[in-house]
Amino acid sequence: MSKSFAYLDAINKEKWTASLDGGWRCGILTTNMSECINGVLKGARRLPVSALVEITLERTVHYFHVRAIKGQKMLQNNQLWTDFACKMFISWQQKAVEHTVTKYSHAQQSASVVTRRQGRHGMNTHVVKIANRECSCGKWNQFGIPCSHAQKVCGAYNISAASMVKDYYDVMAYNNTYSKHFEPVQSEDYWDDPNFQLVHDPTIRTVTRPGRNQTTRIHNEMDWRQTRARQEAQQQQGDSSVQENVP
Ligand SMILES: [Zn+2]
Repeated sequence: MSKSFAYLDAINKEKWTASLDGGWRCGILTTNMSECINGVLKGARRLPVSALVEITLERTVHYFHVRAIKGQKMLQNNQLWTDFACKMFISWQQKAVEHTVTKYSHAQQSASVVTRRQGRHGMNTHVVKIANRECSCGKWNQFGIPCSHAQKVCGAYNISAASMVKDYYDVMAYNNTYSKHFEPVQSEDYWDDPNFQLVHDPTIRTVTRPGRNQTTRIHNEMDWRQTRARQEAQQQQGDSSVQENVP
């Protein structure tokens, strides 16, 4: 058994496999997190290490600064949740008006919800169980915000749908995330002694060639067909232009 297999096998599979996570789709949250950082650092590639560190710090500082101001504004406006959650909740609230609800069990606070017909679409039935915080459409689980079907059922049972929005959308949680600040960095002359010698060896640098970088993708028969088709088209074009030039 390889080391990596043993490492993964020791972790609860609900935490890292989409097939066994019970529909929670935890990966969506973590993937979004890493994609977000990729977005922040867009363009910071193929640079020297010192430039990469500098640009990462610069952009993170900017990111925190802008969001700290935004968080304060949301707080002053007495906003309950972040913009994303507000927009989502209100749009689903408006949609809920068009649904029809049938209550099933008071203990489970369950009900079926039928959506309104819209041309060829609509007339879908969804099952909502408020006690389990779930709707068969899956959106409640995925976003942590009661979907239009869940909001309709909440209304039918006289429950506040707003109280079921996940607390990570709270403006307070947003503010806490960006409440810390970075210390400005002094000039290099004031830095502590690194306690090790930096060795700069220009021979280990990769050789840069002019022109477009060569792709490392393994080509398959689809690429060969495409190249051949392009060559044939170019040849045909060439033939016709020669013919046109003939007096
Ligand atoms: Zn739903």
